[in-house]
Amino acid sequence: MDINAVAIRKLVFPLMRIAKGNNTIDYIKSMQDSQYLSKEDMHKLQKDKLSKLLMHCVKNVPAYADYKYLIPAIEEDAFSALRKFPILTKQQVNNNTDNLICANTDKSTLTPNQSGGSSGEPVRFFIDRPTAENSEAARWRGLSWWDINIGDKCLMVWGSPLELNKRENLIYNMKERFLKNIIFVPAYSLNPQSIQKYVNMINTQKPVYFYGYASALHLLAQLMINKNIKIKYKLKGIVSTSENLYDFQRKTIEQAFDCPVINEYGARDAGIIAYECPKGRMHISAENMIVEILDIQTNQPVEPGKPGLVVITDLNNFSMPRLRYKLGDVAALSKESCECGRTLPLIEKIEGREDDIFIALNGNYVHAVYFCNLARSYPSIMQFQIIQQSRTDILLRIIKSHTFKESEIQAYIDEIYKLMGPVNVIVEYTDTIEPTASGKIRYSKRDFPISI
Ligand SMILES: [Zn+2]
Repeated sequence: MDINAVAIRKLVFPLMRIAKGNNTIDYIKSMQDSQYLSKEDMHKLQKDKLSKLLMHCVKNVPAYADYKYLIPAIEEDAFSALRKFPILTKQQVNNNTDNLICANTDKSTLTPNQSGGSSGEPVRFFIDRPTAENSEAARWRGLSWWDINIGDKCLMVWGSPLELNKRENLIYNMKERFLKNIIFVPAYSLNPQSIQKYVNMINTQKPVYFYGYASALHLLAQLMINKNIKIKYKLKGIVSTSENLYDFQRKTIEQAFDCPVINEYGARDAGIIAYECPKGRMHISAENMIVEILDIQTNQPVEPGKPGLVVITDLNNFSMPRLRYKLGDVAALSKESCECGRTLPLIEKIEGREDDIFIALNGNYVHAVYFCNLARSYPSIMQFQIIQQSRTDILLRIIKSHTFKESEIQAYIDEIYKLMGPVNVIVEYTDTIEPTASGKIRYSKRDFPISI
């Protein structure tokens, strides 16, 4: 038995509740019930919360003061009223931080946060306790579907917390280790030389589950497969977060660990958006947020099944509300229901980031996930990165495998031509593909705005 896990469940969380007024445990209990609400009851729950939030915004949040005229519309139907509010971009959040904070909120009670900025400038924002705790509750609820509970020992494969200096880093690690039962493996230190050491550590410490960026977990799995190393016990699951989880990554991770790979769709600047259930479907944290999927060009809602931009309205953040916040991801909703019995709405597929969408010479949108999956079918390519630099130029960075054949690269380029048209493909062979500042590896990226 993991004494630390029991202590965290029985002692740390209950004490935090008393000493700090932390309500996470209550939120989890409530969400365990609301995950089975009928469609109508969930709609009502969302509508009531949304109505309160919108009223609050027009009355108390300077950035939304001009929308008081929508009060009758909000009273009539909060969902329709929401669509009358503008889409909020990341840049607007950065330019209007103070205006987005509720006039009655004491800023010193809020927690500053910022997104990792894996594509462009990080977004700076504030969250309040209810928002953070509800988001954490949504994560624990999702993990509970896999029999993973508060305090269970976790191995986190992560970039080191960048902003922290050495001493703070040490304190941070100690805190995570003893209060949350988390062991860290810095993603940047994973390499063929260090892998055995980490696997030995895993076998000794026996974490119940792993948690990390898809690309970092994939790297860990790949190194283990290449060296033919396995861990000696069965994990409850490996949770992939913060990045699009590609099929090839899921397969490699499953192969290396022989356990379920659990997709968590979350973002620093939006909380836990959806969680994968054991039936393989992504359930939205509907109690916490409204997820809209909008057409890339018109910003109008698209039908379920059709991919579009993910726009989030967090229903708990009354301190710095961000209505219709454009996350920069592309996904589709699903109308279907899930066999697991949970009635929380579903996201059908998460296609990746907005800037993963390439524009072909004929104007077609081509999702770069296609090129990423395709690259995996050529053994010559060990690692790659594909960047559309302009409508006519594509940069292909490739780390060669030991079975490298020039002809395979040419075949890959021919496939690019088929979808993109006769663009210029520049191939750059390299030894390393640097992760972004947050430790994530971008496999694909469009470097210019979609409107050009
Ligand atoms: Zn389900």
